[in-house]
Amino acid sequence: MKVRCPYCGAEYEAPEGAQYLVCPYCGTVLREGKIFESVYLFEPRLDKTAAFNRVFGFRPWASPRDLGTSSPADAELHFLPLYLYYVYFEPLKELATYATALAVERPPFYVPRNYRFPARWRIPFKPSLERTAVFHQPQLDPETAWAAASKPYEKEARSYAAAFKKPISDKTTFEGIVYYPFWKLKYIYRGKEYNAVVDAAEGNVVYMEYPISRRGRAASLAAAITILTGSVVLGTAIGMGISAAKGVDLTLWGSLGGLIGGIAGSASAFTYVVERKAVYREGQEIEVL
Ligand SMILES: [Zn+2]
Repeated sequence: MKVRCPYCGAEYEAPEGAQYLVCPYCGTVLREGKIFESVYLFEPRLDKTAAFNRVFGFRPWASPRDLGTSSPADAELHFLPLYLYYVYFEPLKELATYATALAVERPPFYVPRNYRFPARWRIPFKPSLERTAVFHQPQLDPETAWAAASKPYEKEARSYAAAFKKPISDKTTFEGIVYYPFWKLKYIYRGKEYNAVVDAAEGNVVYMEYPISRRGRAASLAAAITILTGSVVLGTAIGMGISAAKGVDLTLWGSLGGLIGGIAGSASAFTYVVERKAVYREGQEIEVL
C-alpha cells in the first residue's frame, strides 16, 4: 500500500498489515496512521572517510598490503530498525535491563547473527528534511522479534532464580524503535569494485569483499605443496615400512596412497591460489568467490 509521510511529504510503498511504518527518507514512524514518538537513534560516530579508513586498515587474511591505495567509490548511510525493550522477569528487579532486537528478518546487507546491538547511548530521534540516509522498514512485530532475542536473558533470569527457588515470569515491555547506523561502502582496487559494511556507531567492519594478494596466493600455493609433498613422503615411508615387514616392495603403493590423501588435503589450499576475491563476514570463516 502507498503511504504519504506526514513529515516530509514523500510517498512510499509500505507492507500490508505492519504495525509500524517507517518513511525511508526521513525516518518518521507511523503507528495506526499517527506519528509514533518513541523513536531513538544511535548517532553515527564515524563519518564516510573514517568508515573507509576502517576498511582500508582492516587487512583480513591474504588481503594485499597496498589495499590502502584503493579509492572510495560510494558510501550510503543506512539505519536498521531495532526494537527496544525493558527486560524484566518478575520478581527479579535487580536483573532488569534494556535490550534491543533487530526488527528486520532479512537485513539489506550482512549483519552477524545474534549481533549484540547496544541499548545504551541512544538519543531521541528527530526526523530531518535533508535526505542523508536510508531508513529501513521493520519486518517483524515486536513480540516475534523479542521471542527470538529473549533466550539469553531468560536463561540468565532462570539460573539466577533457581538459586533462590523463585518462580519467574517475563514482564518485558516494548519501549519503542531504535535506529542503528551502518555504512554501506563501495571501493575500487586496481580497477575492480568491492563492497563493505561498517558499523557506523562502533566502527567495526562487519562485511568486506577484497582481492586476494599475490603474496597471499603464493603463501597458499606453498601450503598446498607442503601438504602434498608431506603426504607423499609419509605414504612412501609407510609403504617402505610395510615392504620391509612383508618382504615385498609396496613402496610405490604407499607413495600413491600418500598422493591421493595429499590432493584431498590440499584441495582447499589450492582454491585460494586459483581464486582472486574473498569475503570476510564478522563471526564467520572467510569465503573465496
Ligand atoms: Zn518522511
